[in-house]
Amino acid sequence: MNILVINSGSSSIKYKLFEGDAFQLVAAGLVERIGLEGSRVLHTLFDEGGKRQIVRTAPIPDHQTGLSLVAALLTEPGLAVIDHPDEIDAVGHRVVHGGEYFSETVVIDEEVIRAIRELSPYAPLHNPANLEGILVARQIFTSAVQVAVFDTAFHQTLPPQAYRYALPNDLYVNHGIRVYGFHGTSHLYVSKQAAAWLQKPLSEVNLITAHLGNGASMAAIKQGRSVDTTMGFTPLPGLMMGTRSGDIDPAIIFFLARNLHMSLEAIDQLLNKQSGLLGIAGNSDVRDVIHNMKTGDAQARLALDMYTYRIRKYIGAYMAILGDVDALVFTAGVGENSPYIRAQSCTGLEPLGIILDETKNQARAQDVLPIHADKSKVSILVIPTNEELEIAQQTMSILTS
Ligand code: AMP
Repeated sequence: MNILVINSGSSSIKYKLFEGDAFQLVAAGLVERIGLEGSRVLHTLFDEGGKRQIVRTAPIPDHQTGLSLVAALLTEPGLAVIDHPDEIDAVGHRVVHGGEYFSETVVIDEEVIRAIRELSPYAPLHNPANLEGILVARQIFTSAVQVAVFDTAFHQTLPPQAYRYALPNDLYVNHGIRVYGFHGTSHLYVSKQAAAWLQKPLSEVNLITAHLGNGASMAAIKQGRSVDTTMGFTPLPGLMMGTRSGDIDPAIIFFLARNLHMSLEAIDQLLNKQSGLLGIAGNSDVRDVIHNMKTGDAQARLALDMYTYRIRKYIGAYMAILGDVDALVFTAGVGENSPYIRAQSCTGLEPLGIILDETKNQARAQDVLPIHADKSKVSILVIPTNEELEIAQQTMSILTS
């Protein structure tokens, strides 16, 4: 079985090709700058000999051209991993917003396409681009079953007290204004890995998962199901992020409009692109901010204190919701790579049974890395996320069910 996973963005397509029951990664790549100057495909082949990288520069005016180039690379003599595009059995598409329609992975039909399009106002930067990838893949990989895996699906198990905002009912009932949550595929993937490490079925574990990447969110997982998460109606609230503010008092927006005469567009930019670590420390990359803090930059220290304070605050909140917690999981770029952020995020949580081992915390996670002290009641795990593998596995399971 060959499963191609596609993450189609507005000007890029990321892809990975998995082969066989063991989900062996055989090719991966990125079509970038679609519709722009300097468009190209960065293609990587994986085999026993290691990695081989190929760069193809070409005008790529649209997604159709981009994905056709990928199909050509996958079948090109000398590079071929398949003989013909028809050998792709299934394409698993990452779709950001599934609204209340999709709590599970689905085979894509006209109804699903209609729903993804209808949900575009809820994710205007993502759903139209995801849909474009689906429409193009249907034309190129004509023998493949097309499957949609939604970022929001895992959080559809939130109870109403967690997903409703205290706003007039009409806004939920007629306009769908509620918490949806995001990064669901990642939270689910690391939850399954954590359950396996704990040697328990997923349905028997309580977890707090922290996906700390450029975008960041946490989830409270009770008996394997998401019961609360820090992102909301959009991916803006919750934790402090690279350039996003996370939680703020919504009345700040009125103040900015009325007193600073900012337009809605400018406020949108401010909260999504100019805030977070960038707004406080002048840099959105945690590596750089840590480096600057070590050289005595007070703003960098403040930014990191704010960043980790908020993680601790949500750990406490989620402990209160969950009662017993089996494990706290760190994942994504920051969570997997920054011992400093992990240590600061656990500081002072000893009374809650969360005790980090400083030496273990310095190691690099290849697989599941336990970093808690022996006497810690809650396991603390670093787990590299793999959203594409999760999409491939869900695609496979829908095909074989
Ligand atoms: P992601 O969105 O999961 O790809 O994460 C990207 C972010 O991970 C970058 O913006 C960095 O802030 C962060 N990151 C990557 N490597 C490190 C590292 N060694 N230490 C701290 N942060 C890192």
